[in-house]
Amino acid sequence: MVCRGLFVVVLFFTQTAFAQYSFNASQLTNDLKILSSDSLEGRRVGSEGSAKARSYIIKRLESLGIKPLLESGYVQTFSFTQSFGQVQAGDGSNILAVVEGTKKETIVISAHYDHLGVLGGKIYSGADDNASGTAALLSIAEYLTKHKPDHRIILAFFDAEEMGLRGSAHFVNSLDTKAEAFVLNINMDMISRSDKNELYACGTYHYPKLKNSVEKISLPEKFSLKFGHDLPNSGRNDWTGQSDHKNFHQKKIPFLYFGVEDHPDYHRPTDSFDKINLHFYHSSVESIIRVVRALDSSTL
Ligand SMILES: [Zn+2]
Repeated sequence: MVCRGLFVVVLFFTQTAFAQYSFNASQLTNDLKILSSDSLEGRRVGSEGSAKARSYIIKRLESLGIKPLLESGYVQTFSFTQSFGQVQAGDGSNILAVVEGTKKETIVISAHYDHLGVLGGKIYSGADDNASGTAALLSIAEYLTKHKPDHRIILAFFDAEEMGLRGSAHFVNSLDTKAEAFVLNINMDMISRSDKNELYACGTYHYPKLKNSVEKISLPEKFSLKFGHDLPNSGRNDWTGQSDHKNFHQKKIPFLYFGVEDHPDYHRPTDSFDKINLHFYHSSVESIIRVVRALDSSTL
């Protein structure tokens, strides 16, 4: 009887905790755990670990019944010749899927799934950077299958971000962004931990029109969503060029980038799953979904 009583209590709390989210929190956690596991060896572009990450993401999309964007399938391959700071060539693979809406105007929601791989014999698992955004994109994908969007939504899992935003550059250059009617990029990169419980929505300095949709959402408890990190000439404090949204911005496509401030494990082998603050992460994903919903129902 004691055991049974305990079981009931646990079940009750589990359901209460998850009831506040618009997504499956245990699935999100599991996706993050798998994507940042040692067997994926830091998901370096072109590596075996990257291929494993890709097949995991594609399986999840297939199981959700989400269609590939391109006729050739989910994967868009590309080559690059050199990255900043180091001469390096490689082949990358974006994963692209689409959820049709009632409008032609298209929102691209993105996250890069690559990270640094193995350096000096150590696995850089990039749990926050950016298994967190990748797993969040899968949760958003699932959300969209249950809540049909007004806009057409492209889900873009970019490769080779760490090599100089290569996958997103190829993506915006390979498509006719005017014909595709791209009206917004929502990019996620590092969203799962913050000692201050702060997530940033960056980009409204450039695109103030987006501010209203962000401001009107209600936020989870003990969580703040801040504007900023987008003022020109503020050096490293300006995140406008720090992740894949840069390539959309350069094409004058508005962007909203979600991310946290750098932490001591940034680009270190210690950016691992055990360092993730799951409460903060779940709150981040919930807030981003609410912003997606608000922006989708507005005229962009
Ligand atoms: Zn990153």
